[in-house]
Amino acid sequence: QEDVFKKIVSHCKEYGFVFPSSDIYDGLAAVYDYGQNGVELKNNIKEYWWKSMVLLHENIVGIDSAIFMHPTIWKASGHVDAFNDPLIDNRDSKKRYRADNLIEDQIAKYDEKIDKEVAKARKRFGDAFDESQFRQTNARVMEYQQKRDALHERYTRAMQGPDLAELKQIIIDEEIVDPISGTKNWTDVRQFNLMFSTEMGASADGAMKVYLRPETAQGIFVNYLNVQKTGRMKVPFGIAQIGKAFRNEIVARQFIFRMREFEQMEMQFFVKPGTELDWFANWKQTRMKWHQTLGFGAENYRFHDHEKLAHYANAATDIEFRMPFGFKEVEGIHSRTNFDLSQHEKYCGKQIKYFDPQTNESYTPYVIETSIGVDRMFLSVMCHSYEEEKLDNGETRTVLHLPAALAPVKLAVLPLVKKDGLPEKAREIIDALKFHFNCQYDEKDTIGKRYRRQDAIGTPYCVTVDYDSLKDNTVTLRHRDTMAQERVNIADLNGIIEDKVSI
Ligand code: ATP
Repeated sequence: QEDVFKKIVSHCKEYGFVFPSSDIYDGLAAVYDYGQNGVELKNNIKEYWWKSMVLLHENIVGIDSAIFMHPTIWKASGHVDAFNDPLIDNRDSKKRYRADNLIEDQIAKYDEKIDKEVAKARKRFGDAFDESQFRQTNARVMEYQQKRDALHERYTRAMQGPDLAELKQIIIDEEIVDPISGTKNWTDVRQFNLMFSTEMGASADGAMKVYLRPETAQGIFVNYLNVQKTGRMKVPFGIAQIGKAFRNEIVARQFIFRMREFEQMEMQFFVKPGTELDWFANWKQTRMKWHQTLGFGAENYRFHDHEKLAHYANAATDIEFRMPFGFKEVEGIHSRTNFDLSQHEKYCGKQIKYFDPQTNESYTPYVIETSIGVDRMFLSVMCHSYEEEKLDNGETRTVLHLPAALAPVKLAVLPLVKKDGLPEKAREIIDALKFHFNCQYDEKDTIGKRYRRQDAIGTPYCVTVDYDSLKDNTVTLRHRDTMAQERVNIADLNGIIEDKVSI
């Protein structure tokens, strides 16, 4: 699985999906650029989300707020005081880690040990193996389970404060070693704020410390009144936004899964107090359906309901997707109560309420948030679509089974040879279709090689223009996944393809 992931990362670079930022300067940690195919895929993901939120819901509208915001917003939201991760250094390797990650990895190690015992027993007992009975009776498994549960409980308690000394003590008691130096020479744990800051204003005196937003949500909350009034919105209603967010992540891991500059698609749904848990349940199902509509298989998604809630939330869940490195959060759904709007009321001194014309009452709406990372979504699409497929003739082809609606290029038009009017005929086809969807022209190398190049970027359809095309206006249409070919009229291409590739 690790190997597959490495291959996906290099495929992303080789085929113009994702490059390390500042590549000719050897990159910048946890920052990435999207290439010619990556930007198309990313735009399609955003469009798929935007349409499902803003176009399909009469009561959801979009905004695009600025990245810079008044610094007091981050005080009110709690980010200045509490948007921290616990950090620890190893004195020998000089490497910096998140203390919570080190402990979570240790918890995962107990799980791995248990899995190994279970796998061994399954081999030994074959069909007669009863896993739940084995778990309840095998001494070694029970010992690992006990240790894991005790560690999990102690860790969860320590994170609540958080109690930094206790986090360090856990690392010492568990004898956790630095994966690089192999030593246990740890510093104390300290808090590290994840917000990037800079200065706004020309003179040193007048300069104001501002932050790069660590989430897009606050841009929605501070525009609640503007949008509600100018759009004459009635509760329940939502405001959606897609935009960049910045977090100075201590440890950037797993390619575009955890970046320092990333993009979020967030929707805040304002509801009447008391109805929020029903809406939470509702959005949970709606969002899961959205993911599953892509056709990646229901078994690759799961909810991870939070037991421990942030102080302002009264329900929270993650939608996790099976990445090559395990089930990982792609989207968070949170019932945020009226925390954010009330905090802004306090800090800005203005009333942020909703007047309900039906009941004649005024209240601060409660909020359900759905928040999804574009880049994580991109990664899940890539991981699920990538295949090294063994063909009947013994060859292997690398193919991206992207949902047609998300594919960067929808149709490649390939003249069989570079002469005798075939290129011109191919261009004619592109000229007729390029206003409907993204087409690509390719005349270099054999047809077989050209098909492979399109497979590698996930193009769902290729057409080949040959000598018969000049006579009867037909072409060979080749389907990416089945590699099946059929002869079709040029005039029918738009009808055949557009329906399948539109978002
Ligand atoms: P994590 O626990 O993985 O740090 P989080 O719970 O802090 O994530 P939220 O604050 O709920 O994440 O952000 C909502 C979504 O934004 C996440 O589900 C994820 O898809 C995305 N996201 C958050 N941080 C990053 C990051 N550093 N890089 C890429 N995407 C991110």
